[in-house]
Amino acid sequence: QVSEALKSIARNQHIKSYIQQSNELYPLLLKAAKRFITGESRIDGIKIANELISKGYFISLEYIWENTTDLKECIKAKDQFLGLIEKMGSLSMNQTVSLDLSHIGLSVNPGTASSHLLELAQKAYQHGITLMISMEESAKTDDILDVYKKTSKHYPNVGITIQANLHRSSHDIQELIHYPGKIRMVKGAYQESSDIAMSRSKELNNRYLDFIEQLIEVNHPTSIATHDEILIQEMRQRQYLTHNAEIEMLYGIRPDLLKDLRGKGYNCKVYLTYGQEWFLYLCHRIAEYPENLYIAVANMIDP
Ligand code: FAD
Repeated sequence: QVSEALKSIARNQHIKSYIQQSNELYPLLLKAAKRFITGESRIDGIKIANELISKGYFISLEYIWENTTDLKECIKAKDQFLGLIEKMGSLSMNQTVSLDLSHIGLSVNPGTASSHLLELAQKAYQHGITLMISMEESAKTDDILDVYKKTSKHYPNVGITIQANLHRSSHDIQELIHYPGKIRMVKGAYQESSDIAMSRSKELNNRYLDFIEQLIEVNHPTSIATHDEILIQEMRQRQYLTHNAEIEMLYGIRPDLLKDLRGKGYNCKVYLTYGQEWFLYLCHRIAEYPENLYIAVANMIDP
């Protein structure tokens, strides 16, 4: 409930414009957010991406944007992603770009998202860049998977995120394993009813392990996207962390653990974001893990 309240505060337009107009609050909150986002502009994202790449990490970069039903806004978001792909291409950054389909048209209609994704996939393919589609609320899962499958037939550089907590995911994985794109496995961030998804539990962790095992067995390109140290330790013991698998974590979350894993020679990827919607992103990070509030405040007062 607290986390849902925090998310609605973040979406409140009055609070948003109050923050944007406040000369004191705006820079202070942005400083706090910078523990979790690279900054407001593409240059900020590229700069931190380059620093991480030079330290031996892979990166995935996302332009954060509001969920939108306005076609013009979707086109703007798609153009922003095109610019990002072109910039990364010009710097020979053969890495990953991540996006939500609802930012590029899914909420207008799936056909719009599909044609925008095709345009992005083609550009990314030319530059040797991977595109990873995020997974959103369960009401959108069918549409997201449909758009992914259509694109994947033409562009193997497009991958998909699967939420281990959804009951339907065991069936989806059986199907998706026959598509070439990378599968990013996450536990699931959205609140869903119990007939649709299971909550955090030992059972969910076992399911997560099962899904990773299925992907590793057939040597499918896999992203193990979790900050769960115990789960990662278990996967190391079971030798799931093969050359075709990477461990992917959000920027600013458990960097100590990711550094340690990189030092041990595993493929490690950092998921970076940039954009003006950083306040919503910051609230999401605090909502999912309230201790992040202390980290953000520490960042705020750090000289
Ligand atoms: P949890 O069971 O939530 O936590 C296990 C332990 O990990 C915690 O006890 C804590 O020690 C540590 N931990 C977890 N989260 C945090 C945190 N925020 N700060 C500090 N420590 C933490 N979800 C979707 O629904 N759709 C997506 O497309 C999606 N994409 C993602 C992409 C990446 C690269 C990552 C890493 C996550 C993504 N998620 C997505 C979020 C995911 O579903 C989980 O909500 C999130 O990763 C937290 O779950 P967990 O596996 O880390 O483990």
